Amino acid sequence: METFDHVIVGGGIIGASIAYHLRCKDAGSVLVLERNELASAASSRAAGLILQASTKATKTPLAKKTIDTIPILEDELDQSVGFHDVGCLRIAVSSERVAELEVIADDAATWGIPVEWLNQNEAQRRVPWLNTEVIQKSIFTPTDGYVDPYLLSMSYMEAAIRRGADVRPRTDVTDVMMDGERVMGVMTASGPIASGSVIDACGAWAALFSARVGFPLPMAPVRSHYWMSEPNLKYGAEHPMTILSDIGAYTRPEVGGLLVGVQETHSATFDARDLPDDPAAFSATRGEEHWDVLANAYDDLAKFFPDIEHARFSNYISGLSSYTPDGQIILGPVPGVSGFCVAAGDCGSGIALSAGMGDIVADLALGRDPFVDIAPFRADRFGAVDPFGQEFRDRCAVARASKTRTTA
Ligand SMILES: Cc1cc2nc3c(=O)[nH]c(=O)nc-3n(C[C@H](O)[C@H](O)[C@H](O)COP(=O)(O)OP(=O)(O)OC[C@H]3O[C@@H](n4cnc5c(N)ncnc54)[C@H](O)[C@@H]3O)c2cc1C
Repeated sequence: METFDHVIVGGGIIGASIAYHLRCKDAGSVLVLERNELASAASSRAAGLILQASTKATKTPLAKKTIDTIPILEDELDQSVGFHDVGCLRIAVSSERVAELEVIADDAATWGIPVEWLNQNEAQRRVPWLNTEVIQKSIFTPTDGYVDPYLLSMSYMEAAIRRGADVRPRTDVTDVMMDGERVMGVMTASGPIASGSVIDACGAWAALFSARVGFPLPMAPVRSHYWMSEPNLKYGAEHPMTILSDIGAYTRPEVGGLLVGVQETHSATFDARDLPDDPAAFSATRGEEHWDVLANAYDDLAKFFPDIEHARFSNYISGLSSYTPDGQIILGPVPGVSGFCVAAGDCGSGIALSAGMGDIVADLALGRDPFVDIAPFRADRFGAVDPFGQEFRDRCAVARASKTRTTA
C-alpha cells in the first residue's frame, strides 16, 4: 500500500497552502487528493479581497501572513500571483461603525499594518466615484489588495509540487481508515493510502468528511455572491477596494468596471448533505432571484455610489463559503481522534487567511506550536451541535450578515 507522511483531502486554496507550508517545513512526504479539478470550487469563485485588519482581531496575523507570503511565492515561482496592491478604504457613516474603525485601526497598528485616517478630500482623491459627503470617518490600509484567487491557489500548489508534494486531482476520498481512535489513512476510489496524518481541507464538504471520524464540524455552507459592472471610465480604474460596513457591502475594481458584493440580512444556507460532489452541478441561487437582492440593496448602494444609476451589471458570481456561528474559522484536531486535523469554516475569508491557515495547520500536523494561539479556532468550541439542522444554519447566516462589522 502507498504510504505518505501527510495526506491532505481537498485541492482548494487551503489544501494547496497546507501542502506548500508542510513542504517548506521539510515535513516528509505530502499528498493532496482532490476529487474534481484543482481549485474548482469556492477557490475559483472568490472576489479575492485580502483584508488584513478586521473586526475579528484573531484573524489579522493570518491575513498578514498571506500578504507577506505573496512576494515569497512570486520569487519562488518567478511569476505573478495576480495581486493588485490597491489598498482598502473602510468607511463609517454611523457612530457604531466609527467605533469599529477605531478597533480595526488599533488592531492594524498592533501588527505593524500601515493604517491612515483620511479626511473627506483624501478619501475623494483615492476613490473619485465615492460620495464622500456621507462619510463620518474612514481609514485606509494601503497594503491590502485583491488577488486572482485561482492563480494564488495554483501558485501554492505549484510551489508545493516543486518542493516535492504529490498532487492528484480527480481522486475522490471515500473514507478514513481508523484503528480505534487513531487515523491510519484514507480510502480512495482507486484504493487505500496509508498515513498517520490526514488533514480535512474539504471546504463546504469539510463537515461531511469529518463526520467520517465521528465529528461533523460546526459549520454550514452559506451563499456568498457579487455582481460585476461593465467597464466604465468613471469608476472602473484601479482605485482602492471599499468596505461599506454600514450597509454590509464592498467594492473592488474589476477589469475596467466595478465589482460589488452585498451581504444579505439573511443569507441562504444549505444542508451540506444535499451538496453534490461536483460544485459545477450546484447553483447557490435559484433562478434570477439574485437581481432582486441587488435591487433591494440599490438605494443603500446609491448613497455611496451615485453612478450606480448608469452602471450596467452584466455578470453575477455566487458560491459557497462555510460559516460558523461566531464568525471564526476552525483549525486543529477534533476531539477523540488522533492524527486528524481540520482547516475549515473559512467564514468567507479563506483567500485572505490562506497562508496563515496553511502555516498553522502544517505546524499542528508536525506537533509544533503554531505562530498564534489557536484556542479561538477550536473545533469543539460550540459543544454538541447539529451542523446540518436549520437552527444551527440560521446562526451561521447571522454570522455572515455581520461579516464586516460586529453586529448584524
Ligand atoms: C462568491 C464568493 C466570494 C468570496 N470572496 C472572498 C474574498 O473576497 N476574500 C476571501 O478571502 N475569501 C472569499 N471567499 C471565500 C473563499 O473562496 C473560501 O474561503 C476559500 O476558497 C475556501 O478554500 P477551501 O480550499 O477551503 O475550499 P474549496 O476551494 O471549496 O476547496 C475544497 C475542495 O475539497 C474538495 N473535496 C471535498 N470533499 C472531498 C473528498 N471527499 N475527496 C476529495 N476532495 C474533496 C472539493 O472538491 C473542493 O475542490 C469567497 C467565496 C465565494 C463563494
